[in-house]
Amino acid sequence: MPAPTDPASLLAEVNDRLALALPRAVCELDHDDPWQLLIVTILSAQAQDAVINEIRPALFERWPTPAALAAAPQEEVEVVVKRSGYFRNKAKAIRECAQGIVERHAGEVPQTHEQLVALPGASHKTANLVLGIAWGIASGIVVDTHVARVSARLGIVKSGTKPDKVEATLTKLVPREQWIDISHRLILHGRHVCKSKQPDCGSCAINELCPASEREPIDSWQIRAEREGQLFAVRGDRAAIGMAPIPASGSGSGSGSGPKPKSASKPGKRGSAARATEDDNDF
Ligand code: SF4
Repeated sequence: MPAPTDPASLLAEVNDRLALALPRAVCELDHDDPWQLLIVTILSAQAQDAVINEIRPALFERWPTPAALAAAPQEEVEVVVKRSGYFRNKAKAIRECAQGIVERHAGEVPQTHEQLVALPGASHKTANLVLGIAWGIASGIVVDTHVARVSARLGIVKSGTKPDKVEATLTKLVPREQWIDISHRLILHGRHVCKSKQPDCGSCAINELCPASEREPIDSWQIRAEREGQLFAVRGDRAAIGMAPIPASGSGSGSGSGPKPKSASKPGKRGSAARATEDDNDF
């Protein structure tokens, strides 16, 4: 079956395939509740989720509630979050965010985009992520570096398009009820497969749909999608997040190749060194 030529149909097929890898939206930042999710998302800017996951236990053991963190000394918070980078600014942001939650929302994380972005440290992207993951509220599509890169390689946007423009394009093309799931499918696909310097095109579940592919696909897209799911769940319980068991083996053919839009952004050359910060959550 040829790849769809119109962007909305292309994204629908991308979403369908990646749904096999990630049946429902999850994020790789560990959290127990919306409060923790908000704080670790703020800390994750320009940092790797794995580092934030290592910081999280000590942070919330010491300051488990917004009231506790709001009253915490700046210097002590800086020590705990130091490994997240930009630690002075981040410590200040999460303390002030906690203070805002205590003073304006009676200690509860607000559930509207407008209220969230009014909190110190909470960006538009942070609000979209927290609302989607914590409450299933689709306020937008989360566009991080991975979503922007995959969108460019698929030819949906030009390489280098600003995140707000990427989001505006995607939200026009994707039905609102799919915004949350496709956000996290594209994030994890970009982080684990469609990496900035060494995309694993041969194992990519959406290879036949991608004008920037550098390799022929290996196995059927269903098998590739299942393998992607294994990568996504590397730190989680696969069954607990709604994923089916991985088949032991199998093979098949891909679904054909589509046209190659000229605006597609080519991945980097094979063999070049991946940046140590490749999975940073920038934007
Ligand atoms: S085929 Fe390659 S460049 Fe295209 S989405 Fe897959 S990994 Fe990325």
